[in-house]
Amino acid sequence: MYRRLIAPGALAAAALLLAIPASAADFAPGASGIGDPYYPTYGNGGYDVSHYDLRLKYQPKTDLLEGTATIVAESTQDLSRFDLDFGLTASEVRVNGKKAAFAKSGVQELAVTPAAGLPKGTPFTVVVKYAGKPSEVKLWGFTSPQRTSDGAVFANEPESAAWWFPSNDHPLDKATYDVSVSVPDGTQAISNGTLQSQSSKLGWTRFNWRSSHPQATYLATLAIGKFDITTDTTSDGLPVINAYSKDLGANEGAAKASVERTTEVAEWLESVYGKYPFEALGGYVPNVPSSFALETQTRPFYSPKQFANGSNVSVVVHELAHQWYGDSVSVRGWKDIWINEGFARYSQWLWSEKEGEGTARELSDYTYAQHPADDAFWTVKPGDPGAENQFDAAVYDRGAMAIQALRDAVGDKKFFKILKGWPAAHAYGNATVSDFVSYAEKVSGKPLASLFDTWLFQPTRPAVASALRTAGVPEQPKSWKSIAATNGIHGEH
Ligand SMILES: [Zn+2]
Repeated sequence: MYRRLIAPGALAAAALLLAIPASAADFAPGASGIGDPYYPTYGNGGYDVSHYDLRLKYQPKTDLLEGTATIVAESTQDLSRFDLDFGLTASEVRVNGKKAAFAKSGVQELAVTPAAGLPKGTPFTVVVKYAGKPSEVKLWGFTSPQRTSDGAVFANEPESAAWWFPSNDHPLDKATYDVSVSVPDGTQAISNGTLQSQSSKLGWTRFNWRSSHPQATYLATLAIGKFDITTDTTSDGLPVINAYSKDLGANEGAAKASVERTTEVAEWLESVYGKYPFEALGGYVPNVPSSFALETQTRPFYSPKQFANGSNVSVVVHELAHQWYGDSVSVRGWKDIWINEGFARYSQWLWSEKEGEGTARELSDYTYAQHPADDAFWTVKPGDPGAENQFDAAVYDRGAMAIQALRDAVGDKKFFKILKGWPAAHAYGNATVSDFVSYAEKVSGKPLASLFDTWLFQPTRPAVASALRTAGVPEQPKSWKSIAATNGIHGEH
């Protein structure tokens, strides 16, 4: 457009201007949010991250976390400035080796202005040097990490990453990770994936972890503390690493009796969902006061309270099922949470069915009967619950009933074909609720839009088949209490 403004006498100047690849006027700041209507400022626009390299040092006595994050990314627009989501304090930021200007804005935005604009499609590297005490940082009015007597734990959903590394904090921008953490000798650092190496020097031990498949930021985890660590190898040769705080007290036995069954549960899940999508397995139980669990990639986090009533394999089933439904295939936006939680809950029902403790059908009927038509439970739409109800019981229970309704409609053969096919069809990517509906229609050859609309998008109790209506309230399945005990396993602030 600017060429029209150039007078004929200024041809020499015009030639000069044209020699510049793009006018600085075309460069614009990346958006301060990735475009998620539930959380408008989460994630960022203008670039895409492929890898995070986090080199950290943590002192449990003081809670001081010092770090250098190297972010490998590519611009997706002509970029004059971009945001990272971050709550700690940066001391220096470099883009492609050159010092960049940076400033905090909003709740968690770190606005970075490179020395020169980045044309669309430019690979670039950001280095952020930082320090801070995570447990003292409040964002959106809360603190996400949990400090323990011997360390700290970073595991939460959706807000976790901003307390320990700068990122494009939204599941839509997945990346691989190298997480290297130095802690005082005698303390361990647990993260995702495989432990590449470990070495000690001058009283500090460094643990080098690698997560080599695309991973959402909220699925990156870090736990520092004193752990009993068990290691094994699956029959497919994948490393299994489990970690338990040394001070779990009375919960220790039950925690181990549950999490040590990870390989067995994963093997069974493979029979339902297909090949395990990642390079390592495991789980960890730190000495935190919370009660939730989380499907942190390759290595779920379990609060000790999950094992307060004895062993709880159902929660292990839930978090491992997420490795397929949630971690490999992630939500496109947070409104798609049903493609994670509906299936993780339904996996618990399938496990119950396999164990002879109540079929999924029985669990679905029993759950349905627990909620009369005027129960507020039915006003939450699992297919679009709203940010405030993202982890409401309806997303899990009504969400799993929707999956049972699908099973009833298409029959077991096609149903299990859909369950196994979906993680392969969208492996390591992102998907929406409507992507699932389309996929189920394609595989079954049946129109299913109305069924899913009834079960996922109407704020009322769906009608059920006359067989259930006349049978009355079914007997409580044996697994009911252990599954109910895993309710509220996500997100506590
Ligand atoms: Zn879950």
